[in-house]
Amino acid sequence: MISANATSISFEFFPPKTEQGHAKLAETRLALAALEPEYFSVTYGAGGSTRDNTKSVVLDGLNAGFNTAPHLSFGGDETDTIIALLQEYAAAGVNRLVALRGDLPSGFGGGARLVHANELVSFIRQHCGEQFHIAVAAYPEIHPEATSYDTDIGFLKKKFDAGASSAITQYFFNPDAYAYFIDQCQASGVEQPIYPGIMPITNFDNLLRFSKNCGAEIPRWLCYRAEALQHKPAELNAFYLEFVTQLCEKLIALGAPGIHFYTMNQAEPSIAICQNLGLQ
Ligand code: FAD
Repeated sequence: MISANATSISFEFFPPKTEQGHAKLAETRLALAALEPEYFSVTYGAGGSTRDNTKSVVLDGLNAGFNTAPHLSFGGDETDTIIALLQEYAAAGVNRLVALRGDLPSGFGGGARLVHANELVSFIRQHCGEQFHIAVAAYPEIHPEATSYDTDIGFLKKKFDAGASSAITQYFFNPDAYAYFIDQCQASGVEQPIYPGIMPITNFDNLLRFSKNCGAEIPRWLCYRAEALQHKPAELNAFYLEFVTQLCEKLIALGAPGIHFYTMNQAEPSIAICQNLGLQ
């Protein structure tokens, strides 16, 4: 599906655990499809823990006529399992992947290995040639395990050198972080598009928890404002919506090629932002 908008949009889902969740996701996807996204993507649980469930959501999306991109990491799988999965995806009509190192699920014992994303990109190119558009992850506020700003950008460059086609960022709330990051990537020779990942704000406590793990900075003033409005849900939601809309406006003004929404399987928050932006 080609987006009618100059700013391309895409929406990310996670695979639900229940049948009810799958049915609700089908409704969410239909509602978001009205915005003519370039594609939907479906996450891959840490350590490959959702391999079959991710595949089932991807195939459902393709069968419903929507361009759908699986996220993929080696997880705990053997190379043959990953090759078979790639072949299955290609046969089903997948033309885009999001390639990641991923993290280990909590409680995963010793012995497990994490394969860096640049190696996974090389592996996919080696086995599948140019069959897929491969997106990788990028971190304007720098990956929490990175040893320095420059090495992290160096590793992103390695993912592109291995054959990645584009990158999607971790979510962030400071547009200056993206602007500086893009400058530094370009100075390092990165020419491929880097799409900002945007997290609509719905549940602040969850956001604080996620952000601690993934290293996204929550502006201090935003925390204070959220606290002040905590007993006024309508005002609070309007404030979050305005805040994220303005973030997107600034990113588009900076030249962001599009926006990738972390939907958390909800349609309304992303739709409201897109409507505010005139992306409909
Ligand atoms: P890498 O690029 O391998 O980087 C990981 C760390 O190692 C960084 O600190 C980097 O500086 C360093 N590094 C990179 N390459 C090398 C190398 N060759 N040698 C040494 N060090 C290196 N997680 C999931 O489990 N499932 C998902 O579906 C998922 N989807 C995501 C989608 C997006 C858009 C983003 C931004 C993140 C997603 N994540 C997902 C989270 C991601 O898996 C974690 O952030 C993970 O910790 C890093 O993955 P990566 O692909 O960026 O790893």
